[in-house]
Amino acid sequence: MDEPVKCPTCHTDVRPGDYFCYNCGKNLKPKPPSTSLQQQIIVYLESIFLPPFGIFIGFRYLRQSDYKSKAVGIAAVVLTILSLVICTIITLDLLKTVNTQVNDQLQMLENF
Ligand SMILES: [Zn+2]
Repeated sequence: MDEPVKCPTCHTDVRPGDYFCYNCGKNLKPKPPSTSLQQQIIVYLESIFLPPFGIFIGFRYLRQSDYKSKAVGIAAVVLTILSLVICTIITLDLLKTVNTQVNDQLQMLENF
C-alpha cells in the first residue's frame, strides 16, 4: 500500500508517482541523484565493489541533463567495466595457477 503523499508546497494530497501537484503545479519529480563529493565517492566505491550495480547507478546519472551528473555516470560505468575486467583477469590467472599445480601433481604421481 502506498503512503498518502502530500505536496510539499500546498499540502494537498497527491498520488504517489505524480509529476506535478494538480493544485499548485509544484514539480513533484524525485530529486536527481546528488553529485556531492561524498555521494560521488559512494557511487565509485559501489561501482568498484558491486560491479553489475555500477552500470545501473551510472545510467541513473547519465540520464540527467547536466554535465556534472553525466561525468559521474561515465566514471561509474568506466569503473564498473574496469572492475569486471580486473576480476576476470584475476580469476583466469587463478585458474591457470590451479591448473598448472594440478598438472604438476599428476605428473609427480605418474613418475612415482
Ligand atoms: Zn501543491
